Amino acid sequence: MPVKILEENLNLALKKLEARENSMRQFEELSNLGSWEINLKTNTTLWSEQTYNIYGEDYSVKPNLDLFFSHLVQEDFHRAQEMLKNAMITGKVTSFQCKIKRKNGEIADILINGQVIYDETNNPDKLIGTTQDITHLVSIKEHSDELSELIEHSSNEIYIVCFESLKYLYVNKGACKALGYTAGEFLSMNIYDVNPYLTKSKVQRLKNELLQNDYILNRTEHKRKDGSLYHAQSYIHKLKYNGADAYVIFDIDITQTIEAERKLQEQSQQLQHQAQHDTLTDLPNRTLFKDRLSQAIISSKRNEKTFALLFIDLDQFKKINDSLGHHIGDEVLIEASKRLKENLREEDTLARLGGDEFTIILKDIKNIQDVSNISQKIVQAIKEPMKIHGHTLYVSSSIGISLYPQDSLNAHDLIKYADTAMYKAKDEGRDNFQFYSPDMTALAFERVVMENSLRIALKEDQFVVYFQPQYNAQTNTIVGMEALVRWQHPALGLVPPGKFIPIAEESGLIVEIDQIVMKKAMQQFSSWYKDGLNPGTLSLNLAMKQLSEKYFIQMLLETMHTLDFLPQWLELEVTEGQVMNNPDASIEKLKVISDLGIELAIDDFGTGYSSLAYLKKLPLNKLKIDRSFIKDLPQDDEDAAITKAIIALGKSLNLTLIAEGVETEEQRDFLVINGCANIQGFFYSPPLATDKITLLLNAAL
Ligand code: C2E
Ligand code: MG
Ligand code: MG
Repeated sequence: MPVKILEENLNLALKKLEARENSMRQFEELSNLGSWEINLKTNTTLWSEQTYNIYGEDYSVKPNLDLFFSHLVQEDFHRAQEMLKNAMITGKVTSFQCKIKRKNGEIADILINGQVIYDETNNPDKLIGTTQDITHLVSIKEHSDELSELIEHSSNEIYIVCFESLKYLYVNKGACKALGYTAGEFLSMNIYDVNPYLTKSKVQRLKNELLQNDYILNRTEHKRKDGSLYHAQSYIHKLKYNGADAYVIFDIDITQTIEAERKLQEQSQQLQHQAQHDTLTDLPNRTLFKDRLSQAIISSKRNEKTFALLFIDLDQFKKINDSLGHHIGDEVLIEASKRLKENLREEDTLARLGGDEFTIILKDIKNIQDVSNISQKIVQAIKEPMKIHGHTLYVSSSIGISLYPQDSLNAHDLIKYADTAMYKAKDEGRDNFQFYSPDMTALAFERVVMENSLRIALKEDQFVVYFQPQYNAQTNTIVGMEALVRWQHPALGLVPPGKFIPIAEESGLIVEIDQIVMKKAMQQFSSWYKDGLNPGTLSLNLAMKQLSEKYFIQMLLETMHTLDFLPQWLELEVTEGQVMNNPDASIEKLKVISDLGIELAIDDFGTGYSSLAYLKKLPLNKLKIDRSFIKDLPQDDEDAAITKAIIALGKSLNLTLIAEGVETEEQRDFLVINGCANIQGFFYSPPLATDKITLLLNAAL
């Protein structure tokens, strides 16, 4: 072959070799893989460019084993020597991983693979191999190991569940600890084994949700290996696990949270109950009542039904509260609410609006007669004597009733009308029930206006005291005066007590009014006595309510003291009706007064129902025969007989007698002849203003 051709061939071969080397270099660079060769006979070493790059060495440096060892970190030194020794024996280096320090000080991870090449005589000739820079891979692995460790040791329960079979593919230590199964046991179980209340349809729902969301939350109950249960909150996420569809479930035990939630809910329910119920009787309060009333209106409207609203007021309640104390009053309210409840159906609402006021909503009533029957039953039930802490109490009730839709369609008016009807029941003598009728509204309006005017009258001192002289008909001398209040109204003029006393009594304003009358009358008496006149005894009308006031006696004594008024000048009148309302309590109270040397008279005697037994026990001095018996004397035989009987009774009880409302001479004569010498009435004088009485007293001197 000519040299030229040889040369050309050689050149071609060299070019090919160069190209191979180039692509080899690129390959090494791409894969971070360097190659090397140690000639064991000449002890020379060759490194590829990439091997230089891995160690960070300059290409001009001559490589050898010492250079390799100088790059090894201390810890791997010994292992590397062992690896070399082994390679000579086995002829191989397989995946030897170690750490090196590059020239620039950087630590790197490398993986060495190698092989011994033998010569024809089977002696080791060369050791060739590769060094791969796996720093990046190692760091990824380390990171993922750390993560796995974290997951494994997390206190949360972590499960990986197969999407299809719902079998556990992985569980961490937290899950094993929480449920008491080993990881091995878990791998043969599915989610239904741990979630006893989970149903197939629920799982399907959750799967559907997961299709639309990245993750879902679910509350469940887990069953431990020992059978006990606990609440868990799951955070469920879809993922690929070993290439297949799976779920990862993060669970935490929320038993304590649930318990706290339950307690909170219980507390808030309790608070709501308290906000809507009366603490004493546990009945719905005004707020809840109004709610129920609105509901009753809505449902009655929808179903075209009728309901009744009852307003119930206990008649003698304030008296009980004032005289026996609040603890007894409270017991009366509890007992009353119990009796009311007993007479109602489950669907009726009984509420306490405050004080002694109760309301009832009677739903779906068929006819008015039913409402009457229930009301009558309630009146009757409340009237039964109440035995409370050793006291036998007689309480009655007044009930006002309004009807939906007959009386009104709205709550406000239904309440107002039932209230109005209740006042009507009070006016009718209490202890009864009344249905609302439109003419009651005018009455109620008058009452409200009147009560307001009375308050103004008190503030503006519009009450004046008139005196009506009482005569001894035998001597024709003044023996006393009854103080009678009048209201000097700026527009209406002089208003007689009959027009305002009942409302004053109802509202409690009577207490203040009586105190004013007492002061004014005593002051006037002291002044007459000081002037040397002789008005006799002062008779003061006293509402029994007054005696219930704690400070009444003290106030009475103080007033007498400051006004220089002597106890023997005073006589207190209480009406028969009021005394006999609660005779036991009256006896006690009147005794205190009588012990102070103050005389007591029973007013309007004959109109109430006195029991002789009580009459004997009461510390009385005088009976005032009511005007109703006098008025038709002496013609009316019956009145004449009654009057004579009262006189006989008074004498037998050793009481002084006085007749009121005596207008004629015949009446006076009849009374005197039959033994009642004391006379009060127009025959002698009407009630007069102070100045007129002063004239009268002066004339009598
Ligand atoms: P009362 O205590 O029975 O007083 C007698 C009433 O009969 C007085 O009416 C008097 O004006 C009237 N009267 C007296 N003589 C005659 C007569 O011959 N013929 C007629 N037709 N009437 C006569 P008044 O002043 O209108 O008082 C009515 C009631 O008001 C009193 O009845 C008494 O229960 C009450 N009242 C008057 N002032 C007071 C007071 O300051 N406090 C209290 N709590 N009640 C009072
Ligand atoms: Mg009187
Ligand atoms: Mg009277």
